[in-house]
Formats: sequence, C-alpha cells, structure tokens
Amino acid sequence: MLHKTRILIRFTLYIALISFLFTGTRVSAQTSLSSVISFENIRTTPPLTKKQVIDSIIEIGKQFLGKPYRYKSAKTPMLDCSGFICHIYDHLDLKLSRSSASQAIQTRRIDFSEVQPGDLLFFKGRNISNNSVGHVSMVIEVNDAGLKMMHSCSRGVIIDDYPMSYYKQRFLFAGRLKEMDEWEQTTAIPAEDTLQVIQDSLVSPKKTSVTMVGVGDLMIGTNFPSSSHLPPNDGKDILVPAHYILQKADVAFGNLEGCILTGEGTVKKCNDPTKCYAFKSPDHYIDHYKNAGFDVLSIANNHVGDFGDVGRKNTTRILTENGIHFAGLEDYPFSIFEKDSITYGFCAFSPNTGTLKITDYAKAKEIVQHLDSVCDIVIVSFHGGAEGAKYNRITRKTELFLGENRGNPYEFSRIVIDAGADVVFGHGPHVVRAIDLYKGRFIAYSLGNFATYSRFNLRGPNGLAPIIELELTQEGVFLNGQIHSAKQSGEGGPIMDATNAAALEIKRLTLLDIPEAPIVISDDGKIEPVRP
Ligand SMILES: [Zn+2]
Repeated sequence: MLHKTRILIRFTLYIALISFLFTGTRVSAQTSLSSVISFENIRTTPPLTKKQVIDSIIEIGKQFLGKPYRYKSAKTPMLDCSGFICHIYDHLDLKLSRSSASQAIQTRRIDFSEVQPGDLLFFKGRNISNNSVGHVSMVIEVNDAGLKMMHSCSRGVIIDDYPMSYYKQRFLFAGRLKEMDEWEQTTAIPAEDTLQVIQDSLVSPKKTSVTMVGVGDLMIGTNFPSSSHLPPNDGKDILVPAHYILQKADVAFGNLEGCILTGEGTVKKCNDPTKCYAFKSPDHYIDHYKNAGFDVLSIANNHVGDFGDVGRKNTTRILTENGIHFAGLEDYPFSIFEKDSITYGFCAFSPNTGTLKITDYAKAKEIVQHLDSVCDIVIVSFHGGAEGAKYNRITRKTELFLGENRGNPYEFSRIVIDAGADVVFGHGPHVVRAIDLYKGRFIAYSLGNFATYSRFNLRGPNGLAPIIELELTQEGVFLNGQIHSAKQSGEGGPIMDATNAAALEIKRLTLLDIPEAPIVISDDGKIEPVRP
C-alpha cells in the first residue's frame, strides 16, 4: 500500500463525488466491470463485449485451420460445414443444429450490406440447380473488398475471401443467429462513462483502479499415465472460451494443479498404479496459459510435486522462461512484478511437501509484511481446506482431511490481511465456497475447479468454474466485482454458463457462512461492497 498515488485517488474521488451530487451519475472510477458481466448479461450489453465474444469464437475456429474436411477426433465431432460451425459455437454453449439447412432456420435473414463478423452465409450445395441450403460459412471479417469467411469445405477448414466465383454463384442469403440478434447494438457512450471522460481529461491518463481475475484449479491435460488424457487439438482451445475475460484483466491468476513436464520424472507413490492421479502437462502447454492471459500462477498445491524434483524444476524453469510469475515452493516463496507502473507481490501456501505451509502463520506474516512494504498490491493464494462436495462450508476451524491438517482458511485469510495482504484467493476443495470482505480486502475461500481436463470429478458442484473479476484501487482496496459463471462438463474445460450457477452457489454459501460479510452479491454475480 504505497502512498504515492493516494493524493491522485483522493482528487479523483472528490471530482466523482461532486459529479454525483450534481448529476446523480453513478460513481464509477472505471467502467470496465459495469460493462463486462456474465454471459447472460452479455446479451444486453453494448458491442464491445459482443465483439469480444465473437472474437473468441473466431479464435476457436482458427485453431482448426488446415484440418481436412470431415475431420473428426475422439473429442471433436465430424467437422463438415455445419459440424464445424456447430462445434465452434458450442464452446460458448450456443447450441446449433447439425445441418446447414436447419442452422439457417435458427437465424434471421439479413441484408448482405448488414453482414458482420459472427454472421452466417448460406449457399447451395455442389449442385447449382438445387436451390436448397447445402453449405454454411461464418463471416470473420468485413473489409473494403468484401469479407472473409471461415468454413469447412472440400479444401479443408479454410478462410476464403468472398465474393469468389464458386460461392458467389451459390450464395442464397446471410443470417444472424437469434442469440446474437438479442444483443443490443449501440455505439453511444453510456451516461455513466461521462465521468470517466471528465476524470481522464482533468487528472491523468493513468488508471485509477486495476482489474484482477482469479480462477481455481488448472490442469489442462496430462501425458501421464498416457497421452489419452490430453485434450483435442493439442489443448489449444481448452481455455479459449474464457480468453475474453482473462486477457483483458490487468492481472489474471490461477492455481497450476500439476507440473509441466514433457519428459520423464519420478512419479509419486500411488497405492493403485492403475489409478494414479499424477499430473504433468507437456512443456508447450505453457503457451495455452500464456495465450489465455495468465500473469501469475500458484504452485503451492498437492500436485506440483507429482513428479518429484525433476517436475518441480522443469515447471519453474518453463514458467520463468515464459514470463509467468509464480510462487509457493520453499525455494520460491514469493514473486514481485510490475505492470502498468503498479507493483504486485504474490505468495502462495498449502499443506504439501516442499511448499510454504498454510499452517505456519509466523512465516506467512513475515512474507506478507515484506511484500506489503515494497508493493502496491499483495495477492495471497492458498490451497487448503477439505476436499469434495461435502466440504463446501466455512467452519472457521482447522480442517482435517485424510489425516492431514489442511489449515483454517478463515483464520489464515484474516491473518494475512492483518499483515498487509490485499486479495486472498483460496482453492483446493474442488468446489466453490463463500466469499468475504475483511478490512476492505477481498477473500475467495475456494474458487473450485476451473480447467481440469480428464481425471477430475466434474459432477454437480465440482463442475462449477467461476471466474472472479475484481476492481481494486491502486492500493488493493476492493471496489466491486463480478462472478462470471463458467462450468465444466464431459472431460472438462470451461464454457460460459448462461444459468449463472457458479455465482448463485457462491451467493448461497456466502449468505449461509459469512452472513456478516459487508458485500451484496446479485443473482447475476455482481459483487458490491455494503457502503455505510
Ligand atoms: Zn489440489
């Protein structure tokens, strides 16, 4: 909590207060959170968010470029023209029919001049004299020459410029998915943004708040015991549905629940070797975390040591080489990094061998106090508490599980905040738990699973995969937040969940366990502090 920005913030808040008193405009130091909300709300939110969603879909599609027509893998349905469109929209839980003719019925016909990225173009099939729909493509870019469309055709999954003669002769009509249609189109600056514009011009272009996102366990595929536990498309699309949230945060955090190691290591002892839950992702999977926008990962957990020192060393090497900050091992107790002239400190704790202990309060305090003395914002991660659907409550007591002391998450969080922590991200139980606000600092007691491919139980509450987005002052004080609800099903991998199940569950548990928490959580996941 450095003091260098305090005067600037005070002045900005003063301007905001005056503006509020005179105009009744809602005070919002930064509007990013108010305009980025859960999937359900994206439908009624201005175009920036819609564009991000469509960009995500296009990005997923591009990862199949070069695949042959009717490509099919264990995890990918047959990618004929309509199968391809169906599959890429499915990542955002938009369910389309499996034929181009029935997809056409799911759209509203639009004039060619109105076509935008994300719209579908329908064509006749090979037989030009048959006027029924036989082919579909997705528009990915509109330019002076016409547009670019992505589709699966006899030349494979490909991007073509349109018009091109073969398709021009067969063009039937353009359509917009009804879900896309529901999104309001507006380019006007909302009234509440006016304040930001005033602030920007009066004070400084420098940001007055930061956004941070936190997710729980990450294990996006393991090549042990065999590569059958790796996801389709070499893992490239597993995190893509969440890119649009993770990438735009100033800081994105997650718990790396496993090691990174292509080669061999010394696998931990397993009672039943056929069911050995030891995780190692190939080295190049670091690209998937990087592309998703992760800045900092916890490696204090029960799986980082699954392949002994070889695994730990390779993991820290790969993270270092790729510029992802991390902490949690005794050899790597904390990390300090700077982004947009804000200094962040990060440390992580768990009950496991070789990691900083969640039960060693003296050590935790010492590290946090040090970080607080040299950083603006201190983030503390812990992997603790009992595991499984039965253990989703905050007992405020030490939790013992399988004979192991898994810490007292409630007490630990308060101790680190007393020592200077600004955000506490907990995980480990594989299910979500309550959230809390203590001394103006945000706590998530368990973020649950987020992207855990294969080998994980994803039934019921274990399938909830929240992304918690926070807006903080430059000193780490909580301003507001948003729980984006994603879910995992099948083999795993997050997809956005329009039912907001993760947010509703966190709200329910918070009201049960921390009813005094000075926050209000709305059904769509918005988190506001209670102001006196
Ligand atoms: Zn774990």
